[in-house]
Amino acid sequence: MNSPALSSGGAPAAAGALDAAALRADFPLLADRASDEPLIYLDSAATAQRPRAVIDAEVDYIVRANAAVHRGAHTLAADATELFEDARATVAGFVGADADQLVWTSGATAGINLVAYAIGNATAGRGAPASARFALRPGDEIVVTESEHHANLIPWQELAARTGAVLRHIGVHDDGTLDLDAAAEIIGARTRVMAFPHVSNVLGIVNPVDRLVALAREVGALTLMDACQSAPHLALDLPASGVDLAVFSGHKMLGPNAIGGLYGRADVLEALPPFLTGGSMITTVTLDEADYLPAPQRFEAGTQPVSQAVGLAAAVRYLENVGMPAVHAHEARLERRMRDGLREVPGIRLLGDADGTERVALAAFDVEGVHAHDAGQFLDARGIAVRVGHHCAAPLHRRFGMTASVRASATLYTTDADIDAFLDAVAGIRPFFGEG
Ligand code: PMP
Repeated sequence: MNSPALSSGGAPAAAGALDAAALRADFPLLADRASDEPLIYLDSAATAQRPRAVIDAEVDYIVRANAAVHRGAHTLAADATELFEDARATVAGFVGADADQLVWTSGATAGINLVAYAIGNATAGRGAPASARFALRPGDEIVVTESEHHANLIPWQELAARTGAVLRHIGVHDDGTLDLDAAAEIIGARTRVMAFPHVSNVLGIVNPVDRLVALAREVGALTLMDACQSAPHLALDLPASGVDLAVFSGHKMLGPNAIGGLYGRADVLEALPPFLTGGSMITTVTLDEADYLPAPQRFEAGTQPVSQAVGLAAAVRYLENVGMPAVHAHEARLERRMRDGLREVPGIRLLGDADGTERVALAAFDVEGVHAHDAGQFLDARGIAVRVGHHCAAPLHRRFGMTASVRASATLYTTDADIDAFLDAVAGIRPFFGEG
């Protein structure tokens, strides 16, 4: 990638050296806008914009190499398979993993459902004999947090309902941090699964992975980390983190839609039974039964999102070229600018405003006296795109006595000027609605 924002010679930029305004030239949706249609895009936590390199990689695959992977005997199919598997190695490497530890999914939601249904299949006695260790019995416990995105909550509610397991949750303090004392009480001998967000999509706080994993390990519980909101912003080493499983979504990390990753520890993936079954995940099949391929193919039944995988590999190469330390340093600065600025606006209440916690660059807030949707429309009329609603985290909003909030999220192409324009506009919301 030849980004003008890189330091000379295409070497990765040093931490703190990222030039967001220059990077923006790589993102057609941001760069190629008519001057009378300005856009300040502060909704990257919902979906990030894609650099030209990602769009080109996907188109190039379709134009030059499109074929069924892992099947055809012809050269084109071999080329497609190579690109698909290279993409797997690239994306796995981005999170510190080996290629065979990465299962392609259509996104984080699909990855979590895959795991929940695979555990349910262990209960039904299917799959490898080793899968019995995942079987849930009535009274076993699944633990989540109060800050979960619905994607990391409802699959566990359903699994509990199917198996008779009990779903419990770790609460959050008023400042948004997890109640770790409660976690130590809740995670116990009956805990079989613990699912948690690395970073909540509402609070932006980086949760203490070491502590949570240690608590789960003490009792032999399986851990699943939702890394949707951390993978685009922090350098991850999933094997070193100690989690058993983790999920992320391509469209939040500059990549295409309909692609995501499920990382798993080798022994866990090896023992988990499949969820979807069918073509491409088997060795031998008779009319009565089938033998399955090892992971990751065992979890990839049917035709896979190949061009999207190639696009996601281009996205992580883009992030790596910019340099995750530089991305993190830039975003940490934006986060402080945004949070400090919002604190100064009368009538703004930030959700989870803990000091001194590591964060990604997002802030969700209430505008006193103004519904979040009205605030969102006010900002949109000024060319500022934010997310409004419960952000698929209704229980967390209920915890803070709210049904909806406004969320602004920044990323590597967000500039200081974007944040300042946003803060200026936010200061105008309550006066506009006659509230301040
Ligand atoms: N978890 C978190 C923390 C998220 O922010 C999101 C997306 N909003 C998801 C899970 C679900 O991701 P997807 O819709 O891409 O499956």
